[in-house]
Parts: sequence; structure tokens; C-alpha cells
Amino acid sequence: MEALLTLGLLGAALGFGLAVAAEKLKVEADERIKGVHERLPQLDCGACGYPGCEAFAEGVIEGEVKNLSACKPGNNKHYSAIIEYLKDHPNEDGSIIKVSK
Ligand code: SF4
Repeated sequence: MEALLTLGLLGAALGFGLAVAAEKLKVEADERIKGVHERLPQLDCGACGYPGCEAFAEGVIEGEVKNLSACKPGNNKHYSAIIEYLKDHPNEDGSIIKVSK
């Protein structure tokens, strides 16, 4: 009986510790990834070399993607919408993420 109680308390303490650590170490995603993602064709085809549109959008926000035409199913409407979105949502220092069509 004591062993079960000890294991239960230990499990509860470890669970609590993990919950606190998860909250403290949580990394907030840049919400602009969602904004770029919404403006992509959302086919998740992988033609851009990324595993899907969300990863491509992350690449845009992180500055890895320099040319939006890497998204083969995309067209001028998609690319222009993303460029406009990036102009309206600059970095914290006021700089704008530069990408070309
Ligand atoms: S090529 Fe375009 S549509 Fe296909 S996964 Fe990449 S971003 Fe999405």
C-alpha cells in the first residue's frame, strides 16, 4: 500500500513538474506564419521543397525563402497578397521581410 501511495505521489509530482516546464519553455509561434500560410494555395504538394505550405510560410517569415515562385502552384495573386501582407506586418524593428515574386 505504501509503495502505491509513493508511486502515485511521485507520478503526480513529476506530472506537475512537466506541466510547469512545458508552460515556462513554451515558444510562441510568429503569427505571421499563419498570415502567409492563409495566402498560399494550401495544396501541401511539396513542390517548393518544403514538406507543406505551413513549413514554406515559416521559411518566408524566417527569411529562408527569397523567391515566392518556389511555390509552383502559386500565381501572381498569391505572391502579391503575401508581399502586401509582409509590408503590413513588419518585424519588431520596423524592417520588412523582403521576398520577390
Ligand atoms: S509548392 Fe506551394 S502549394 Fe505546394 S507545398 Fe509549397 S507552398 Fe504549398
